[in-house]
Amino acid sequence: MNVDYIIVGLGLAGVAFAEELTAQNKSFIVYEDNSQNSSLVAGGMYNPVILKRFTPVWNAEEQLRTALTYYKRLEKKLNNSYDHKIDIYRIFKSVEEQNNWFLACDKILMQDYMSSKLIRNENEYVEAPFGYGRLVHTGRIDVNSLIGDYRAFLSEIKILKKEKFLYEKIVFEKDGLAYKNVKAKRIVFCEGYGIKQNPYFSSLPMKEAKGELITIHAPDLNVEHLIKAAVFVLPLGDDLYKVGATFNWKDKSDLPTEEGKEELVKKLNTFIKCKYEIVDQLAGIRPTIIDRRPILGLHPEYEQLAVLNGLGTRGVMIAPLMAKKLFQHLEHDVPLDHEISINRFK
Ligand SMILES: Cc1cc2nc3c(=O)[nH]c(=O)nc-3n(C[C@H](O)[C@H](O)[C@H](O)COP(=O)(O)OP(=O)(O)OC[C@H]3O[C@@H](n4cnc5c(N)ncnc54)[C@H](O)[C@@H]3O)c2cc1C
Repeated sequence: MNVDYIIVGLGLAGVAFAEELTAQNKSFIVYEDNSQNSSLVAGGMYNPVILKRFTPVWNAEEQLRTALTYYKRLEKKLNNSYDHKIDIYRIFKSVEEQNNWFLACDKILMQDYMSSKLIRNENEYVEAPFGYGRLVHTGRIDVNSLIGDYRAFLSEIKILKKEKFLYEKIVFEKDGLAYKNVKAKRIVFCEGYGIKQNPYFSSLPMKEAKGELITIHAPDLNVEHLIKAAVFVLPLGDDLYKVGATFNWKDKSDLPTEEGKEELVKKLNTFIKCKYEIVDQLAGIRPTIIDRRPILGLHPEYEQLAVLNGLGTRGVMIAPLMAKKLFQHLEHDVPLDHEISINRFK
């Protein structure tokens, strides 16, 4: 089999790069072994405002513009809906926070997303004495369904290998490489935290963060927007809500823990006052680089090997634009901005 690219990993990064290759008429095959599940458990929210400080997310406008077109195209291609628009209500902790919100609202970009009207709380089961700031034009990508559908699609056209990619089987050749019975020009590693096992890229400076989520059943809550306070509460329908997420920089497993559940419940109980039942708990490792920027580019020695990683806490928004930038770099020598290039750590 002869292809232009081998992609290793089919989470948000791998899907975005596969779609970019498809758009550019390049052939590829994907290896995916289910060893990581960050994309599968993600809350899937996209939102251009940092809700702690009310400042814009890095490069938010370009990321969001690219991402929204991209998800629309995938909805058409896979005949399913993934992009669910949902407003975000940020609970204010004080009058000072209210003031900071209204100051931030006036800034360019923020104007389109941050409503300048103070929202009073009318839900007896939510504690929000200082009211809410409301974000509009935000949403949630149902990443789990999207990835499931995409994997099924690639399986059907026989370009998905459900197996572990074995680094020691790479044979470097003059104009490309061979891997088992596949000849390719290049491999793009989209392995998330799995990159730690990759001998060619294991030294990338990661500061991975485990995240845990619970799903609760809360029939009295009756909320249709996302509430953000100490944790987020995301309505899924049928009185189910996803609650998350924790940040743990020590535990490197993707197994749910009692400690994670307790932390979420404690934080949830500070502002949700109705009865609920925990019906599910999930965990994953966010592939984050120490400077919290994505990491893209070629291996310093083997130009047949490239990486697309470091999507951190915002894979939904970042992945589509980074896939485009990596493609332009690999195929047309367009330089990568220093802040996303692998060369920044040389
Ligand atoms: C609890 C939690 C909540 C989150 N919420 C949000 C959110 O609301 N919004 C948002 O934008 N982001 C969120 N994120 C972050 C988001 O999930 C990540 O940015 C994104 O999933 C990273 O995607 P990725 O493709 O780089 O990595 P991954 O999703 O980890 O995908 C890597 C893939 O590579 C495969 N793989 C690895 N090694 C090999 C190998 N040797 N052979 C074959 N396959 C291999 C793995 O099995 C995996 O499928 C959240 C993350 C967590 C953990």
